[in-house]
Amino acid sequence: MNDHLVIATGGNDTIRIYAALSSATVETARKIHDPWPTAIAAFGRVLTGTLITGAMSDNPYRLTVKFSGDGPLGTVLAVSNRRGEVKGYLENPRVDLDLNSSGKLDVGAAIGSGIITVIKDYGLKNPYQGVAPLQNGEVAADFSYYFAKSEQTPTAVSLGVLVNPDGTVKVSGGLIIQLMPGASEEQIEFLEGKLSQLPPVTTILGSGGSPSELINEVAGETGVKILEKIDIRYHCDCSRERFLGPLLSLGHQELKGIIKEQGKIEVRCHFCNQLYHYDQSELI
Ligand SMILES: [Zn+2]
Repeated sequence: MNDHLVIATGGNDTIRIYAALSSATVETARKIHDPWPTAIAAFGRVLTGTLITGAMSDNPYRLTVKFSGDGPLGTVLAVSNRRGEVKGYLENPRVDLDLNSSGKLDVGAAIGSGIITVIKDYGLKNPYQGVAPLQNGEVAADFSYYFAKSEQTPTAVSLGVLVNPDGTVKVSGGLIIQLMPGASEEQIEFLEGKLSQLPPVTTILGSGGSPSELINEVAGETGVKILEKIDIRYHCDCSRERFLGPLLSLGHQELKGIIKEQGKIEVRCHFCNQLYHYDQSELI
């Protein structure tokens, strides 16, 4: 099954449900950034949460989600768009901690306390920016609190990454449920009850279940209507030309200095590790 995201409604259009299978996307991110197990679990959750959040608006836009915590991972950042593309980076990928008291990868300790920043760039002059304090650094609860606090939308979030003994990604996915305006107290209670009984998303996806099955599992009784299916992937849109502008903005003197010192200028993309070489004739 290829990575994809399914968007559905339930409860007579009062619930919006998003479910994603992101195993190959997160494995691609692992190959690029080479994070250790706790780090890839954190990174995979952030990438998947950002992918789903990026699909929430009908308008094409660029969504950036940044986790700035005081844990050993440092900053974890992801950028996605409405086309199901995501890229990201971690400040310190070489983080692997002891399992937490529930026997799970300790993402909360790896991220620590701090803030989540969400930037929605619609291509207008001022991008929308929302900030909320991290709840526990486990990513799902942090997204959920952000939606409630910053966007006033009650939202349940479940994100999971299972890592193989050799450090590769076994399965990754996520489920986000939002109450649309007009949802009743009963629907909220019903949904909260269902969610609390639901096994982790990785249990259903890991045994071959699809995102649609995940949606039916949680909200099938409320009359689910599938709206859209979007293929998702790790994709970086960088290019030689893109880095040229920022390089030139360093100024003549600065560039001359670097070339004198190093004989050439190289720029490495933080998102995909691609190395770009520029020679003197292009810059000065
Ligand atoms: Zn790149």
